[in-house]
Amino acid sequence: MIASEVKTPAIHTVESSQDPRDRTSVTPHLKTVALVLADISSYTDFIKFNRRSLLHASEIVSELLESVIDKAEFPLVLNKIEGDATLFYSDIGRDPSLGAQDVVRQISGFFDVFDGKTSEIAANRQSCSCDACQNVTKLQLKVVLHAGEIAVRNIRQFEEISGENVILVHRLLKNSIADREYVLMTEVFRQLVDGMSLNDGETREEVYDDLGSVKVRVFLLGQFPGTSAHYHSSESS
Ligand SMILES: [Zn+2]
Repeated sequence: MIASEVKTPAIHTVESSQDPRDRTSVTPHLKTVALVLADISSYTDFIKFNRRSLLHASEIVSELLESVIDKAEFPLVLNKIEGDATLFYSDIGRDPSLGAQDVVRQISGFFDVFDGKTSEIAANRQSCSCDACQNVTKLQLKVVLHAGEIAVRNIRQFEEISGENVILVHRLLKNSIADREYVLMTEVFRQLVDGMSLNDGETREEVYDDLGSVKVRVFLLGQFPGTSAHYHSSESS
């Protein structure tokens, strides 16, 4: 039953290699994808940790990451969690422009759910006086978008992606932008969503020793489609 194969969770495909496509997925291959790196600003910038706040900070960041991950819809899939960040990708090989536009639409949902979740956590943890619980609404989300070819290989149930494009999307988290909540897209990605007329934002250039200069466009919240300026940060006094 080929139709039901599609619904089989990825974790089972390694074991049930009856379908020839399963073997293809195990063999390293190239894919054209949109890469999405969503990063929660770190608590370490503004709170002092003790045993209690360290534990609560970890719980809070986990809850927030989970809410963002739950929001992602196929073909946007989670690749891995990296500390306070999550890496997703979407296979856009069939129609790169349409695929990238879907990613843009999903990203506004990330900010919505992040905002809702921080407010909910703050309310639930009002009674805890620790730094982590008292400063939940100061946490912010930034998202880096890029597109290009990557190499994919599967080892056991893990999917490993690599290539210069994967390096670049991570490198872009370290940048010259002073704001803490924004969407940054590379010029490569921006060209794919040209049809969406994203006229706001600021064109910048980030320079890296090994990768050279990278042209990017940065959207603060309110400038990016479907987001509003300053969700929760304006509520905290
Ligand atoms: Zn606490």
